[in-house]
Amino acid sequence: MDLFEYQGKSLFARMGVPVPEGREARTPDEARAAAEELGGSVVVKAQVQVGGRGKAGGIKLAAGPDEAFAHATDILGMDIKGHTVHLVWIERAAEIAAEYYVSFTLDRGVKQHLAIVSAQGGMDIEAVATGDPEAVIKMHIDPVSGLTNWQASEIVYRAKLDRASARKSVAALRKLYEAFVSLDCDLVEVNPLILTGDGEIVALDSKVTLDSNAFFRHPEFEVFRKAFTEDPIEKMASQRDLNFIKLDGSVGIIGNGAGLVMSTLDVVSLAGGAASNFLDVGGGAGADTIADALDVLTEDPTVKSVLINIFGGITRCDLVAQGIVDALDGLELPWPIVVRLDGTNATEGRQILQDVVSDSVIPVRTMREAAEQAVELAGRS
Ligand code: GDP
Ligand code: MN
Repeated sequence: MDLFEYQGKSLFARMGVPVPEGREARTPDEARAAAEELGGSVVVKAQVQVGGRGKAGGIKLAAGPDEAFAHATDILGMDIKGHTVHLVWIERAAEIAAEYYVSFTLDRGVKQHLAIVSAQGGMDIEAVATGDPEAVIKMHIDPVSGLTNWQASEIVYRAKLDRASARKSVAALRKLYEAFVSLDCDLVEVNPLILTGDGEIVALDSKVTLDSNAFFRHPEFEVFRKAFTEDPIEKMASQRDLNFIKLDGSVGIIGNGAGLVMSTLDVVSLAGGAASNFLDVGGGAGADTIADALDVLTEDPTVKSVLINIFGGITRCDLVAQGIVDALDGLELPWPIVVRLDGTNATEGRQILQDVVSDSVIPVRTMREAAEQAVELAGRS
């Protein structure tokens, strides 16, 4: 799960990494109040999960509360690369003497952590890496020994970070690494980590990706999840443990296995339609799961037809077919369903569907045929 900048910074602060003091604001009035509380000049920062906010006009310096109000008015509701700004982070403006780049990730290939550090941070580290590769230091960290004082010092030296504040840079690197490990992150990136006019090291930005597989170790992360403006249908799906993502089209998709569902989306596009969602019911999907999946789709008014795509491997198609029959029992469906069954016991499965259910359930054999029918039915209604 990717965090917003202000959420990542709250974790940094908890780990002892210096960050500017700031406040959340959802309206221009809240932005004004935040600026009043903080005093002096502040920076108004769009909270969207995409880089290059600065260049897109989503980060503005304000001399005081009135300017903070005006900037928040401009930035709230702004679209940055397809992301709408619902919240701005108002923080005390920092005086920047130098901008560094720091990140920690996992290098799966060598089974070690990877630190990437540069003295040329700021907006575009990719451009630095291409134009001046020597300026970007990469160093592996043994996850058993961790980032030692000695190794952090070497990174600071080789990346040519300011000498006078080297001890503070070393401390910041080690705390960020500590955060990366102890909070079970896939990524901790700070661009820029700054050197202030008075020689302090401060994290001015944060990009943190949490490993959702480790959430059971961090009940405190629940607040982050709640902060995301969740689509009500996606929320309903997640409450039922379904892997669901809302899309723009009109053909509802249910399939077993993420790869199969993704290729189903492609085949639906090839047939000239567009999927209204991604929904993976997983391996051993039974009647309950199919019923849940259909239930979720009935909440979505954009769905005009549904394509259920099951490839029977360990999952037996006749059991899935029986599951669909059971699921439909007593359920009044607002749209026709095309069911493609292939693999283990597919013939038996199609027979079950043919025998038991109404005209609005259409069993087919191939994915292409299924997509064409579903797209046609979606267009018809
Ligand atoms: P990004 O463009 O989405 O990565 O957003 P950042 O948070 O990294 O901000 C982009 C740039 O805005 C930084 O590199 C700084 O140059 C500038 N910036 C952000 N906060 C401040 C601040 O408090 N003071 C000053 N002077 N500049 C800031
Ligand atoms: Mn940045």
